[in-house]
Amino acid sequence: MKFNEMTYTRPDFEKSKKNYEELFKNFKDQTLEEQITTINEWNKLSDDFATNATLCSVRHSIDTRDEFYEKENEYFDEVGPLFSNLAVEANKTILSSKHLEDLKKHFGPHYFEILECSLVMKEEAIPFMQKENALVSKYNKLIASAKIDFDGKTNTLAQMGPYTQVADRKTRKEAHEAITKFFEENEAEFDKIYDDLVKVRNEMALALGYKNYVDLQYKFLYRTDYNSEDVKRYREYIYKNFTPLAVKLREKQAERIGLKDDFKYYDWGFSFKEGNPNPIGDPEFIVNQAIKMYHELSKETGEFIDVMTGMELMDLVAKPGKQAGGYCTDIPNYKVPFIFSNFNGTQGDVEVVTHEAGHAFQVYSSRNMIVPEYRWPTYEACEIHSMSMEFLTWPWMELFFGEAVNRFKYSHLSGAIEFLPYGVTIDEFQH
Ligand SMILES: [Zn+2]
Repeated sequence: MKFNEMTYTRPDFEKSKKNYEELFKNFKDQTLEEQITTINEWNKLSDDFATNATLCSVRHSIDTRDEFYEKENEYFDEVGPLFSNLAVEANKTILSSKHLEDLKKHFGPHYFEILECSLVMKEEAIPFMQKENALVSKYNKLIASAKIDFDGKTNTLAQMGPYTQVADRKTRKEAHEAITKFFEENEAEFDKIYDDLVKVRNEMALALGYKNYVDLQYKFLYRTDYNSEDVKRYREYIYKNFTPLAVKLREKQAERIGLKDDFKYYDWGFSFKEGNPNPIGDPEFIVNQAIKMYHELSKETGEFIDVMTGMELMDLVAKPGKQAGGYCTDIPNYKVPFIFSNFNGTQGDVEVVTHEAGHAFQVYSSRNMIVPEYRWPTYEACEIHSMSMEFLTWPWMELFFGEAVNRFKYSHLSGAIEFLPYGVTIDEFQH
């Protein structure tokens, strides 16, 4: 079966609610074995819902102009919170089990820590969440709508990426200005979405009894064993230990490209006088090299990449109407991942087939876990697998970059270091 042949059915909330009530009717009085069966049955229903929600969101993100999935996406923005609330009801019931200690022995204690986190979601949050979802969809659509006239072509934001990395300085500057122009032209709308989002999230936190959105969001992110104080210390650690190194790397870059005394924001994307290390072939070439690489890396990764390509579980190339960025997700009932990206001819394309494929390989390896909450190891831990895959695949990078391979490795490694100050800056701003 190919991705396009997977069946999407709009989940019926009333029906799911009935199923839930039926399933948990006698939960309180059930024996341990019966409760285990009930929980497994419930998780199957959750997988049905997640399968359809994911099929919808992936297909919508591939082409935000597709009317059918735009409507379905709106439906999920509305009903998603109702389903979450139903899940919370189920989680509460599970947590109140008289066999809780034995259930923990059977499923492992972490499952119940995650269920605890979900309890922050209450019925009062539903209207706020619906509004939040609609705003997020609006933002994604606005970003995907960018049509930037440049170099005699109409470009999406992702397609503008390569122009910010070329050797010709004037082109880099003009490319940045063209990108900025899009944001300037839509400034009022971006500001409105942002302002509304801040307000609705803050109001939701207050309505749920939190001081602000930060602590609430920590629960939504399933951060079960650290808090915002710990994260603050981590940011300080980066600032003290990594920022000076990142600055040094930028100074070396400025010197390397001959702009020691005049290094500007539009020079950041240009790393080497000889040119940036771009992949030496088109998307098809990159995928074929990835197939070769994953077969040589291990039996397991070989099997994995054959599933990804055979079932067409990757949508890689930037195109009009496509959402920005890249992600990896999973489709539970089909036990497969999906990789979404915006290839644009830069080294980032190869980092997709390593980073996102690292996520995908992890979730593919976890596909037979019965508890859905265990298939991903929660957000931060997820990056261990993706970042590791980026570096585990270093011995194969020549396949993609040819003689520019050392420039790639230098740039990849410094990029990983430079990301840390950037990432914690955003984190501090969000806090
Ligand atoms: Zn990642």
